[in-house]
Amino acid sequence: MKKLNGGCYCGAIRFQILGPPVWSAHCHCRSCQLALGGAFVTWAKVAASDFAITKGTLKTVEKTPGIRRGFCGDCGTTLTYSAQGEVGGQDWSADAWFSAVALDDPSIIEPSAHVFVSHQQPWIKLADGLPTFQEF
Ligand SMILES: [Zn+2]
Ligand SMILES: [Zn+2]
Repeated sequence: MKKLNGGCYCGAIRFQILGPPVWSAHCHCRSCQLALGGAFVTWAKVAASDFAITKGTLKTVEKTPGIRRGFCGDCGTTLTYSAQGEVGGQDWSADAWFSAVALDDPSIIEPSAHVFVSHQQPWIKLADGLPTFQEF
């Protein structure tokens, strides 16, 4: 498989995925807005076994119990999202979620939806034709 690399703004954290993401979507939820400092964030996922941190050590923040966001302690870039155990009737531990734009070549990402548009900022106008979901 083709290995793809990515990392944070300052370069202290690097990660690698084995092959292209199996799923990607834009999340407009309030937590992502605040955690990443943007109007929305584009997440992508691969199987947990296909994701590895190759340089540095992620710091984590867990505001919502069970939801852990990994970020670079030097520059603050949020890179990962993980949920412990079952959330919403789904076992998330099999997947590794990461910020799609952190890839060295984010153009390979093919987002398939907008989620949590119930939190979408009113000045964001969507015209890409992707399906939207009020929550996840
Ligand atoms: Zn950094
Ligand atoms: Zn979100």
